[in-house]
Amino acid sequence: WAKSSGKSRWELFDPERNEREVTRYALSSAMPAALERGEFCLDYQPLVSLCDGRLLGVEALVRWRHPKLGVLGPDKFIGLAEETGLIVRLGSWVLAEACRQARHWIDLSPKAPFVSVNLAVRQVRGPGLVNEVTSLLREHDLPPGRLQLEITESAMMNGADESVDILRSLADLGVRIAIDDFGTGYSNLSYLRTLPVCELKVAGSFVEGLRAPAAEPASLTDERILATLVSLAHTLNLTVTAEGVETAAQADRLRAIGCDAAQGWHFGSPMPPTHVDALL
Ligand code: C2E
Ligand code: MG
Ligand code: MG
Ligand code: MG
Repeated sequence: WAKSSGKSRWELFDPERNEREVTRYALSSAMPAALERGEFCLDYQPLVSLCDGRLLGVEALVRWRHPKLGVLGPDKFIGLAEETGLIVRLGSWVLAEACRQARHWIDLSPKAPFVSVNLAVRQVRGPGLVNEVTSLLREHDLPPGRLQLEITESAMMNGADESVDILRSLADLGVRIAIDDFGTGYSNLSYLRTLPVCELKVAGSFVEGLRAPAAEPASLTDERILATLVSLAHTLNLTVTAEGVETAAQADRLRAIGCDAAQGWHFGSPMPPTHVDALL
């Protein structure tokens, strides 16, 4: 039984909750060895220009090929890795692997996409990120513009001034900085103006409501919000990528609004790197 706020109380044993806890524990304790054994891999999802359909970039999305549980998506383990701190080492592996791939695609084609990598807050706050990126760019002889780093809006807002300084040093290297899942947190555009960001990735929840022009009023409201956001972003010299674009109708509305780029099942699901080779 648990003691809380000075009073003793009984907690009912909840077998489902217990099972979840056991699974979480098993996963998080298995992760370090899994990283050593090379059980993590990256899929890449196309980021496509809405003007001409060109492949601009690909986003690296981590997966865990668990020997017993099959392929696990990041929602199953990134949170755990953040809690244990393993995210710093896992994140380093992701960065290195993505840079290696970026080099491979440059060697393969003049139309090679930039590679976009998600960063966890703890990676940004950690001491080594700027040096790490600098040496990866050098090791793979990568033009810095071929690497984009994504950081979520909420991570940025919680960020102390040091994180902003680190982002600035990264931007000074010539690396692209994007704000991920924009619109799900609390940041405002005037704050963004002070950050060295070049791209906003608008969360899929904003895109969901977009339908054909004659559709119901709710989707018109969503469309107006999005249109306002795009024009403000452009005023601040930011490009806008829409996430979670699943239908041709959504892509059409986004194009009409002036959104620059899109990502989502309509343009391509996350895929293994060899499939990107084939696209090039
Ligand atoms: P995110 O960065 O916003 O990535 C986009 C997520 O949306 C991906 O989920 C992708 O598969 C999914 N998605 C793509 N197109 C569509 C669509 O048309 N409709 C819908 N409903 N979803 C779509 P995924 O791969 O499960 O990744 C989830 C999140 O995990 C990512 O969200 C990112 O925040 C995090 N993540 C992934 N890889 C890494 C990593 O290497 N490091 C860190 N720190 N976080 C990562
Ligand atoms: Mg997923
Ligand atoms: Mg992302
Ligand atoms: Mg996102």
